[in-house]
Amino acid sequence: MSARSKKPATQVVGAGRRREWTQGIVNTPVWRASTILYDDVAHLRASGGRDTHHRLFYGRRGTPTQWTLADALTELEPGAENTFLYPSGVAAIAAVMLAVLSPGDELLLVDSAYDPTRSLADGLLRRFGITTRYYDPMIGAGIESLIGPATRAIFMESPGSLTFEVQDVPAIAAVARAHGIATILDNTWATPLLFPAIAHGVDYTMLACTKYVVGHSDVMLGSVTAAPGRFEALRDTSYQLGQVASPDDAWLGSRGLRTMAVRLKQHETSALEIAHWLADQPDVVEVRHPALPSCPGHDVWRRDFAGSSGLFSFVLDGGGERARAALIDSLDHFGIGYSWGGYESLALPVDPQRYRTATTPAFAGPLVRLQIGLEDPADLIADLARGLDAFRRARG
Ligand SMILES: *Cc1c(COP(=O)(O)O)cnc(C)c1O
Repeated sequence: MSARSKKPATQVVGAGRRREWTQGIVNTPVWRASTILYDDVAHLRASGGRDTHHRLFYGRRGTPTQWTLADALTELEPGAENTFLYPSGVAAIAAVMLAVLSPGDELLLVDSAYDPTRSLADGLLRRFGITTRYYDPMIGAGIESLIGPATRAIFMESPGSLTFEVQDVPAIAAVARAHGIATILDNTWATPLLFPAIAHGVDYTMLACTKYVVGHSDVMLGSVTAAPGRFEALRDTSYQLGQVASPDDAWLGSRGLRTMAVRLKQHETSALEIAHWLADQPDVVEVRHPALPSCPGHDVWRRDFAGSSGLFSFVLDGGGERARAALIDSLDHFGIGYSWGGYESLALPVDPQRYRTATTPAFAGPLVRLQIGLEDPADLIADLARGLDAFRRARG
């Protein structure tokens, strides 16, 4: 794939902003609509059609506010065809799965996937006659041995939710392509700035824009960006499902995107400082951060990624639920919450073993997942040091 013509920080500022949509205002304003009025019957008859991207037709098909964000996300993925927006990341995952899978098909789903992705596979997809086989996140090109006559799609998430294994996406994508199988990647952790997925051979790359694109913990939004020749199926399915991201939410998404490059840089620097500090603590046995050599798939991360973001986990040295809760409850600067990608730090007790069926990762103690926000890392480290004291006292 050709080199980027502009650096990512420049791209996020300008991408998707068109004069006819902004009318000179910097961020495309909120164009709300349900009804679109036509000049006359001839105009009405000439409108509509299978693809109304960039053409006002009916509110559900979007307005310049959604097109700005969709086009910006497409521009950030070198080689991509187009992007569809959704009212959440999970809605985006559901739409792309339904676009590529039909009754009787088999899905290969990474065992380290985000839990709601598993719920979709084990619930709706199964109900509609689509079977799922879970696979080891470290499988790489070995995925070929799992491909059967009914396999139609491979879903990846790299690094994996909670446990952060980095997948060999190019190797899996190459195998899939040779077998005519569609590949889907949940790229929420890296965003296209750290991992341009289409350029690495993926057919569909999905983002929970709720996280780093929005960046302020106040909007639900998702996206799927498609490789050439792959968009039509996604668009048709998404239209049939009636999917539409609201213009207000898309507007906040665009607003967040403009600062995503600088935010990611700070998340990266602070998270690395804290991850290295944690790795030196006697009560921490393992840090699962893709940029640390101890993380499964670290070599692949070094080869393929332009950097790291702000989410990682660490494993405590023994202790149980009570000692882990003592640590988390004693923190002042870390909120306790599920979503992430905002400006504020978060700590979450996580139990990945509960969500595995193909692999059985073993840990020496309980896990804590951290989202490192934009606070001063020195304050966060002091807070975690107090937390580890509380953990030690509770563990005994
Ligand atoms: C949050 C998240 C999602 C789902 O996004 P929502 O907008 O919350 O529906 C999907 N994948 C990953 C990895 C996530 O962290």
